[in-house]
Amino acid sequence: MIHPATELRFINEQVGYGVVATALIPRGTITWVKDDLDQTFAPAEIRAMAPPYRQILDKYTYVDESGLHVLCWDIARFVNHSCDPTCRAPGYDLEVAVRDIQPGQELTDDYGSLNIGPGFTTCRCGSPRCRQEIDPDDLVRHAQEWDAELRAVVPSMEKVDQPLWFFVQEKAQLEDVFAGRAPMASCLETYYERRPARARGQTRRRAGG
Ligand SMILES: [Zn+2]
Repeated sequence: MIHPATELRFINEQVGYGVVATALIPRGTITWVKDDLDQTFAPAEIRAMAPPYRQILDKYTYVDESGLHVLCWDIARFVNHSCDPTCRAPGYDLEVAVRDIQPGQELTDDYGSLNIGPGFTTCRCGSPRCRQEIDPDDLVRHAQEWDAELRAVVPSMEKVDQPLWFFVQEKAQLEDVFAGRAPMASCLETYYERRPARARGQTRRRAGG
């Protein structure tokens, strides 16, 4: 579920639609939470679908840490990529504003953290931090840097309004983080390791040790 102070807006011809703040969303605000209305699809389910459905799911879903494709039911599925995003996902089913998002500014996240397939490769986000090529393994490469950004916003998370708190599934874990009893879970916990095609049917390397 996307933050209530947002709306779908046409950005430009190149980007299409995006999700824009309608009021100030302060740094530390939870901007999205996976909720019970979001739909999940196993890869085999998607393979069994007709091509037009597969194209829709390819465009609008992200992949969670267990390899399931998640289709957000609300405008959250229109959040665009930036290599310097306004929102990031720690190791929970939610995203947090890593800086103040002004009214009219887009909510963006980093598709390198969404386990997307190799289809989305060339980026023209225009940020000085632009990586040019977006790769599913960017999450592994940049986890330290992204975690540092996320951990820096923890003190703000406690202070700002959290209109999505009701929907947060990991409330106890986050309360431990706020109380200083545990660090914020690393974004790496959302990583899904894709098996190379030739290894399908074998034990996953990680599971085998
Ligand atoms: Zn970029």
